[in-house]
Amino acid sequence: MARYTGAVCKLCRREGKKLFLKGERCYTNKCALDRRSYAPGQHGQGRKKTSEYGLQLRAKQQARRFYGIGEGQFHKYFLMAERRQGMTGENLLRICESRLDNVVYLLGWASSRAEARQLVTHGHYLVNGRRVNIPSYLLKAGDEVAICQKSRDSEKIKAVLEANGSRPVPEWLDKNAEAFSAKVVKLPDREQIEVPVEEHLIVEFYSK
Ligand code: SF4
Repeated sequence: MARYTGAVCKLCRREGKKLFLKGERCYTNKCALDRRSYAPGQHGQGRKKTSEYGLQLRAKQQARRFYGIGEGQFHKYFLMAERRQGMTGENLLRICESRLDNVVYLLGWASSRAEARQLVTHGHYLVNGRRVNIPSYLLKAGDEVAICQKSRDSEKIKAVLEANGSRPVPEWLDKNAEAFSAKVVKLPDREQIEVPVEEHLIVEFYSK
């Protein structure tokens, strides 16, 4: 699936939920969903009836859009989650959380997941001492992530750290701000994952 390149606020308005796709702006009164809390388009304010299937579809789309993952890859993650022990829905969210672009965002090394994806692609980060430029790279417990030595001096990275570096970091990541590095202590439990979806609906969607 081609990556969505349209106005991301429309995605939040379509889902009727904040998906936090624009970094700082999402926390201000400029948020498009706060200003226009109805779906985009001509019929956006019309009466809505949502079927069971519709709810399941929306849950899947919300999770996918929250993490910025394409349809095909998200389905692959679902199949991977099914093969793992434990609850499939939780496994699925844990896989999404462990993506390198998501972890870079959570560490405050990018202002949004979209920016994190771009910075990873540009090769600014190391995993266990080796440069990794694949945003979908899945991290494991014990992995160490760091900002490349050269990138620490770049104006772009300095500005990003200045704006986001003091954001709280989830407990499953052990960040060392002075060393520009962090360790994945363990993969997160469900209550440590902030995605605003009911994952059992996604499981039902794919189990049809
Ligand atoms: Fe969504 Fe952020 Fe846009 Fe608000 S500002 S609609 S939360 S992307």
